[in-house]
Amino acid sequence: MSNVVERLADMTALRDRQSLDVALVQTLNDLLQPQAVLIARWVGHRDQARWLTCAYIEDGVPQPTSTETWADLEDLPQASDFPMRQQVLSQQKAQLADKSGGLNCFALIASTGAKAVLEIRTRRALSTTQLHLIDGVLRLYQNFQNLLDYGERDALTDLLNRKTFDGAFLKATLVRNPAALASGSNQRDADTRPSTVNRRTERYWLAMIDIDHFKRVNDQFGHLIGDEVLLLLARVMRSTFRFDDQLYRFGGEEFVILMRCDTCSQADTGLQRLRSATENYRFPQVGTITISVGFTEIRPGDAPTTAIERADKAVYFAKEHGRNQVCSYETLLESGRLAAPIGNVGDVELF
Ligand code: GH3
Ligand code: MG
Ligand code: MG
Repeated sequence: MSNVVERLADMTALRDRQSLDVALVQTLNDLLQPQAVLIARWVGHRDQARWLTCAYIEDGVPQPTSTETWADLEDLPQASDFPMRQQVLSQQKAQLADKSGGLNCFALIASTGAKAVLEIRTRRALSTTQLHLIDGVLRLYQNFQNLLDYGERDALTDLLNRKTFDGAFLKATLVRNPAALASGSNQRDADTRPSTVNRRTERYWLAMIDIDHFKRVNDQFGHLIGDEVLLLLARVMRSTFRFDDQLYRFGGEEFVILMRCDTCSQADTGLQRLRSATENYRFPQVGTITISVGFTEIRPGDAPTTAIERADKAVYFAKEHGRNQVCSYETLLESGRLAAPIGNVGDVELF
């Protein structure tokens, strides 16, 4: 039992969600010695919702496996493949069990509305004492998760804030070895395992978004209406991008997106979709607004500030050339419309 107390203490010392998920499955594994424990997040849009297994441990495996943030949606199991998980979320029940009592699902709903389930498989039905213990651990986990959300999110738009950006950026620039994630696991129940092993794309893009003539909105309609525009634009952003694209408000009327795409043209298409959705959205009282977007590919070894600087130059170019447009830093450079920075020859940095 003291091991469990130690695990709980470790859990509340963590500062990121991924480690918190891993700590939760590890704690419950120590506590219950089950056949398997996992956390699966509900991701994607309503008509094509999927399950992303974030942390998983099973009998005989010493360490939990954890999923990284980026996954290919089409590789994930459909929401409807796991009806009990769907049921526990849709009925807003704290817990559901199958007939045998050996498969239990618990709803994990964050204060941001993000939905996930905890699934526990045991040889025998869970006892009342065990269910009480799980309830206590989950309350601790959810309180702590809400605290993390509070520190990571922008209060107005609920997008991620600047503080969390550097860590996510550095993760995207790490050289990955997907095969390592698959090692140490047997093939039983392969569809519930963390799902990044099939990840195909390793190219990441950083986009900066700045609202056009936003001062005029504030001047004409006041700051409160200006704030409402920011809130609604954040909603348009959320509905435009994939579940694993990371959306940030950097402060003021500037937003940043960290996205994974195969090509520059795909990144451009996604951003054009946002530009056009914004232009076509009717903001109450204000009517229409437009945005200027600059983006750049994240390079191995990039520092966050260097990539931001490149995207910023592309935004500046868009502003100077009529606004309401999406510009790629690399395309501007290749076409000679933007001068290469001093100290660079081609793509090779000298200093
Ligand atoms: P441009 O097209 O060149 O971007 O013109 P702009 O008027 O949008 O200029 P700029 O981006 O430099 O100015 C940003 C303005 O956004 C300044 C300020 O009035 C407004 N702003 C910044 N933060 C907030 C905020 O949190 N709420 C509201 N309502 N307005 C903000
Ligand atoms: Mg600005
Ligand atoms: Mg602006």
